Amino acid sequence: MAGRLDLPEPDAFTRTYWDAAAEGRLLIRRCGACGRAHHYPREFCPHCWSEDVTWETASGRATLYTWSVVHRNDLPPFSDRVPYVAAVVELAEGPRMMTEIVEGGDRVGGNPELSAGADLEVTFREGIPVFRVTPTPSA
Ligand SMILES: [Zn+2]
Repeated sequence: MAGRLDLPEPDAFTRTYWDAAAEGRLLIRRCGACGRAHHYPREFCPHCWSEDVTWETASGRATLYTWSVVHRNDLPPFSDRVPYVAAVVELAEGPRMMTEIVEGGDRVGGNPELSAGADLEVTFREGIPVFRVTPTPSA
């Protein structure tokens, strides 16, 4: 694992999140005081500072908010992956998260079909949540 900058180092708090991700579930945090969800997980609500925050399994659905194709990154393992699509997606539950857009479990590499607002679904790579464009259902 030495030299890998993309893999998590869970602490006691985030272990729940990464354990769920390893099982293919995306967790978010929901505030009992103001009702808003957030991501990345924090021990208190970033909106109202309440500590009345619990884990919730997200639907895994999101829309593409913004993205950029990364052509150069000298840090391992990213140096072997360029180009890749770094993105901010808006989860169906509301929170935005930084992630990567992949296709069929692999990187997209500048897929021209990406457009703002595109429907995405979560998938997992080495226990890390990433997103892919939701296949268009055949009518
Ligand atoms: Zn709150």
